[in-house]
Amino acid sequence: MNIVMFEIKSAKFLKGAIGGEGLPQDALPQVAFVGRSNVGKSSVINTLVGMKDLAISSSTPGRTLQLNFFLINEDTYFVDLPGYGYSKQSLKFAEKMRKMIMWYLEQNEKKPKKVILIIDGNVGPTKFDLEMMELLQENKYKIIVVANKMDKVKNSELSKKKKGIIEKLQTENIIYFSAKTKKGKFELLEKIFD
Ligand code: GDP
Repeated sequence: MNIVMFEIKSAKFLKGAIGGEGLPQDALPQVAFVGRSNVGKSSVINTLVGMKDLAISSSTPGRTLQLNFFLINEDTYFVDLPGYGYSKQSLKFAEKMRKMIMWYLEQNEKKPKKVILIIDGNVGPTKFDLEMMELLQENKYKIIVVANKMDKVKNSELSKKKKGIIEKLQTENIIYFSAKTKKGKFELLEKIFD
């Protein structure tokens, strides 16, 4: 059997873009990461690249209201979109972020090759997650759902939780992940780069 382990050999923060300003102009493929604030989006990205603090948590002010581009293996962009649906955000701020996300996913000429939708596997898909899933489906994206924080799910509840996620999202294309234990890391890398 031929086992190929995907590996990220280099990763660097390239730039933050606001709207169309500052987007990379080259043709390298883009892989976008979306998710509600606090689902662990930055932790998932950091786990994939094997670095502690490449992507910055959405609870830290700074790079939040922009599209953050990371150059991976010199040939792919990971694009970290702003987190959405955080109750502590002001409505105006939340609306600004929503507009930015929608613009990138719907109007941008350089559409991402794949979109990684990160949800909290312990909480399950929320209304915001379902709205995002619908938007991605309408735009015919290749979607990979990552159910993060699976380390928080008790063994006795595992199959029930998985069933609930599949039923709500209407897909079985889900990677059960934990940024804490690194569970699912290679499975996700394989799906991203296949
Ligand atoms: P972001 O806002 O989506 O970028 O979320 P962060 O990556 O900042 O994570 C939010 C919080 O969830 C932090 O306290 C993380 O330590 C925690 N977290 C992230 N991933 C996991 C995970 O897989 N398991 C557990 N138990 N906690 C996690």
